[in-house]
Amino acid sequence: MKTMKTLFGISAAFAVSLLATSALAQTYPERTITMVVPFSAGGPTDTVTRLVAESMSKDLGQQIVVENVGGAGGTLGAGRVASADADGYTLLLHHIGMATSATLYRKLAYDTLNAFEYVGLVTDVPMAIVARKDLEPTDLKGLIEYMKANKDTVTVANAGIGAASHLCGMMLMSALQTQFVTVPYKGTGPAMTDLLGGQVDVMCDQTTNTTKQIQGGTIKAYAVTSPARLGNLPDIPTAEEAGLPGFQVGIWHGIYAPKGTPAEVTERLSKSLQLALKDPNVVARFAELGTVPSAEAEATPAALKAKLEGEIARWKPVIEAAGQFAD
Ligand code: ASP
Repeated sequence: MKTMKTLFGISAAFAVSLLATSALAQTYPERTITMVVPFSAGGPTDTVTRLVAESMSKDLGQQIVVENVGGAGGTLGAGRVASADADGYTLLLHHIGMATSATLYRKLAYDTLNAFEYVGLVTDVPMAIVARKDLEPTDLKGLIEYMKANKDTVTVANAGIGAASHLCGMMLMSALQTQFVTVPYKGTGPAMTDLLGGQVDVMCDQTTNTTKQIQGGTIKAYAVTSPARLGNLPDIPTAEEAGLPGFQVGIWHGIYAPKGTPAEVTERLSKSLQLALKDPNVVARFAELGTVPSAEAEATPAALKAKLEGEIARWKPVIEAAGQFAD
């Protein structure tokens, strides 16, 4: 069948889709939005998501329901959003794992760079290397010796291959040139419960999940992965200071939508994200948790796209050199 043309040479189907898009952009959002967290409830990504979602929903005038789809280092939740309708009603809040899993997994249910549209960056969270309260070593050098000497028995929690805790564990293994026993969870919320209960020994996790426990003395902290010490954990040295030169990593978080979501919708969400990141409640809670909201210019589709592309390229050779892949 011949393509129908309008007077201006635009195909009828294209014209209809343009009209539908602008109608959607004018009315969006009309109903509840689902924001998928690819990890368990109560963990750091979940904490960040709930704070931001609550604030964004005030501006959008619609509720944002947070859905936890944990497992496989965040790739199950990302896959769920990749295959959702591209109508702005299913979103994903994921972290650096979006970039590392693109290389770590030989087979993913989605093509990372082609399955999503971008809303914007949310925050960049440092990590802390922590352990159960009664683990013997008192400083990072001691912990390193202990982990080397007990490599077959010391257990290190993570949220699965591709998770931030997995990445930090991988960096630790390569710095120590030692393999140790890892225990995967669906998120580091439940892993923290086990660390507090003494069922697992060590973890490296975002400060959004560790600050309160470190301050309360219910877990031991050996180092933070930021370039400088953190204001609310002034006694905890950086990994660099404590004996691991170059051991720095920040866990950036971003919001995504399925590929094909209209630009008007992602722009609308980006504006709402920018407002949320200036919400005094979000700013104050982020500060308590040891992180800062992304600047307005970063909470944009273009900034998140550039970040993801850059981070996939940055981590690819590191992961390939480590040679540990998942199927
Ligand atoms: N902190 C976790 C990670 O290792 C994820 C989470 O539970 O939020 O990526």
